[in-house]
Amino acid sequence: MKFLDEYRDADLAQKYSRAIASITTRPWAIMEVCGGQTHAIVKYGIDELLPEMITLVHGPGCPVCVTPLELIDKAVDIASHPGVIFCSFGDMLRVPGSGKDLFSVKANGGDVRIVYSPLDAVKIAQDNPAKEVVFFAVGFETTAPANAMAVYHAKQEGISNFSILVSHVLVPPAMEAILSSPATRVQGFLAAGHVCTVMGYEEYQPIARQYRVPIVVTGFEPVDILQGIYMCVRQLEEGRAEVENQYTRSVRRDGNQPAIRLIREVFRVVHRKWRGVGEIPESGLGLREEYAEFDAELRFGLAEYSAEESSECISGLVLQGVKKPYECSAFGTRCVPEHPLGATMVSSEGACAAYYRYRRLGPGVKSSP
Ligand code: SF4
Repeated sequence: MKFLDEYRDADLAQKYSRAIASITTRPWAIMEVCGGQTHAIVKYGIDELLPEMITLVHGPGCPVCVTPLELIDKAVDIASHPGVIFCSFGDMLRVPGSGKDLFSVKANGGDVRIVYSPLDAVKIAQDNPAKEVVFFAVGFETTAPANAMAVYHAKQEGISNFSILVSHVLVPPAMEAILSSPATRVQGFLAAGHVCTVMGYEEYQPIARQYRVPIVVTGFEPVDILQGIYMCVRQLEEGRAEVENQYTRSVRRDGNQPAIRLIREVFRVVHRKWRGVGEIPESGLGLREEYAEFDAELRFGLAEYSAEESSECISGLVLQGVKKPYECSAFGTRCVPEHPLGATMVSSEGACAAYYRYRRLGPGVKSSP
């Protein structure tokens, strides 16, 4: 298969593994930003192909994981209203709020539906004019164009029973927050290829310059990731801190301009709280004034929520690359995918879920299948 098999080629992967070893002269810590990359690394054992001096640190790029607890509680509140059809991507349903999750609302008779596109939710609103239809708009820059399109389309069509509960976050401010933390050990980044497919990579140049970190835009297949690591290590060893693009088959420097225009038409940059991390200034998207009528928080007049994380859950430290999942005392015992304490054990992009699924129980320790 073109564009897939060649990026899972074992010989090519071994070649990059040897090339990385041949240029590495001292320890380096590299963060892969995206949870999809984390899953590929753990699934294919990419970290085990690297010299011991290279440490991969998992980043915050799992949108489900960083959606704040309060917003899950708001989603549960809205979904529990009679006359509401609450639409969401599937992996949000089992994310625990402070009391319930969306699955339990559904189990108790709430009309909670899994959709594969926000435009499906708009169609449900058109087909059910007597109901309020709400879409849980979660994600990074990757999902923002489709969510913006749903709102734009609803406005154009005069669909007044549709709204979105917005929890959009942006990658560059999170990278800056990680680099500004005294606890950081990150010396280079693999940036998320799909985010850069939308946004391009010019906005990473000031970060690379200011913090003196190499940033390599990287794809998601094993050979992509190994090539991204090779490019990052090569910069570190040569004392360079530049933005480079490994994922050239998808990413252009200036991104997808029509998608960026649509995002800017519908959304504005706002401060956002990240689950387990706290508020990061100008790190999210909210609806512009002209589209405020589609804001579910305003439509349902929700009060401000505050909620406390489980005291056992260290997902904030996992998301910032400070701890590995197996360093959490609840990992694999009191916290498993069927009964998660934190979102990183639920999401298909969560680091705890990856370590549990692929049986990484400690540094270099795997359980038998
Ligand atoms: S294993 Fe569970 S409790 Fe521990 S950090 Fe991960 S999600 Fe939180």
